[in-house]
Amino acid sequence: MSRRQIFAGNWKMYKNFDEARILVEGLIKNLKGNSEREYVIFPPAVYLQKIYDITKGSPVKIGIQNVYYKHEGAYTGEISIDMAKDCGCDYVLVGHSERRHIFGEENSEINMKLNAVLQEGLIPVLCIGELLEERENGRTEDVLRSQIYSAFEGMTPENALKTILAYEPVWAIGTGKVATPEIAKDAHITARKILNELYGDAVARSVSILYGGSVKPDNIEGLYVIDDIDGVLVGGASLDIDSFADICSVGN
Ligand code: PEP
Repeated sequence: MSRRQIFAGNWKMYKNFDEARILVEGLIKNLKGNSEREYVIFPPAVYLQKIYDITKGSPVKIGIQNVYYKHEGAYTGEISIDMAKDCGCDYVLVGHSERRHIFGEENSEINMKLNAVLQEGLIPVLCIGELLEERENGRTEDVLRSQIYSAFEGMTPENALKTILAYEPVWAIGTGKVATPEIAKDAHITARKILNELYGDAVARSVSILYGGSVKPDNIEGLYVIDDIDGVLVGGASLDIDSFADICSVGN
């Protein structure tokens, strides 16, 4: 079964524009292209248009880190999906753990964002993952089930198929503690089992699931060889040209 392979970098709220330009130019230069892979970066929203102009015609696509689900209106500070499209975005991060845990995004809002992104024809990367305490209390599967069920509520199988999942255990994000390949594999198999409950085997086997959480050049090999891992979502290591290019070149 061939699924989309995606290597994505989430720049979060880092880099001024000059640094961002150097990073993206260096990345385009250093990436050893592989036509089976999609390379995506999520720069800060204010730089999207300019970064898009640099990436045009290269294998690097761009995405936005967050959107609002309304089309337009008096929503000070928010960015609509149409606005992201205007800036050249193909992808949208939905439900990143920092949105959930710092900004209080609830599953119900994530469901609205996911639906809106799909309706507008962009590709959502839906982030799910448990807190350390939830893992230690044996609640990982319950948490993943509740995040997946609520995000996909009311969604057709066709739209579910267009969604990319990213399993990102919260305790591994930005902490340097990568999940072992076994932990990541188990969680990906669990996420696929939950998709199977909702949409059946064909959909469950077709949805790409990325791993995220302290991915670095020195741990990518162990993750990449796992069948159920279809790519990675990288934070810190995507801010460095060599590190991200090395991660993207795994197995090439
Ligand atoms: C992320 O921001 O999604 C992430 C996984 O960050 P890091 O790679 O720094 O843990």
